[in-house]
Amino acid sequence: MRITGGWADGVARRQSPNINRGHHSRELIVLHYTASYTAASAIATFASTSGKSSAHFVVETTGEITQMVNLNDTAWHAGYGVFRGGGQVNQRSIGIEIVNPGYHFRSAGGELLNWERKPVPESRLAPFPGLIEARDPWVGSARTWWPLFPEPQLGAVERLVRATLAACPTISEILGHRDVDGVRRLKVDPGPAFPMARMRRLLGDRADPEDIGGRRLVVHSPSSPLNIRGGPGTNFDKLDRGPLRHGLQVIELEVRGSWIRVRVGDGNSAFEGWCYGEYLRPAA
Ligand SMILES: [Zn+2]
Repeated sequence: MRITGGWADGVARRQSPNINRGHHSRELIVLHYTASYTAASAIATFASTSGKSSAHFVVETTGEITQMVNLNDTAWHAGYGVFRGGGQVNQRSIGIEIVNPGYHFRSAGGELLNWERKPVPESRLAPFPGLIEARDPWVGSARTWWPLFPEPQLGAVERLVRATLAACPTISEILGHRDVDGVRRLKVDPGPAFPMARMRRLLGDRADPEDIGGRRLVVHSPSSPLNIRGGPGTNFDKLDRGPLRHGLQVIELEVRGSWIRVRVGDGNSAFEGWCYGEYLRPAA
């Protein structure tokens, strides 16, 4: 999956009106569950102005993804959050909503009850591969059951996180909504059934071009080193870390006209910028 101009290629799109244009920074990905059984109800909420909430992406149990906010804009998914001592988490993050109804209780007779303690037919849980029992102090002292997340859905979240990390190289953290709600302790999502560690590991993989989703390119500029700039055009400043020597391998991140955004190097020393595409060729 690639994200170009803030939109993911090949996924359904439904613009949410609940946004702010632009953003402050891109520092973290916040993972949520929708507290619903289907994507349709979450999408309807985010598409309605009365919902006053939104997320960049909604991931259905089947793995189908709907993008509702451009990555360059601010979604309303963690408004009261705190991250690294600061607020304005929406302005600093990408929000991904994963369809899952969250915790259930059981009646004395063993009947499944939703979070409002209303009975739920077991058939509503058919998309989910079982329940785990876990106690969560933020929910209270009652025993609670949490639906597991289907593997096609988790695979889709992984692909989305990888693509988001590639599109937003300044992101350094992946957290659950609950992790940024430690002051209020109201939000428990994505909950104990969600494999948070599996998603957080993707932060360590990001230098791998397979994960970034980009091609390997090689600088082909035998007569002089290739300038790398802050934007797609000669009117953007040259980066201090350039120019790039002939033969250097880079990773393609985004193409805009004749210009290509590339990642140079890996790990902590990696940097990104724009090069004129004429001087970049696919690596053998
Ligand atoms: Zn949430």
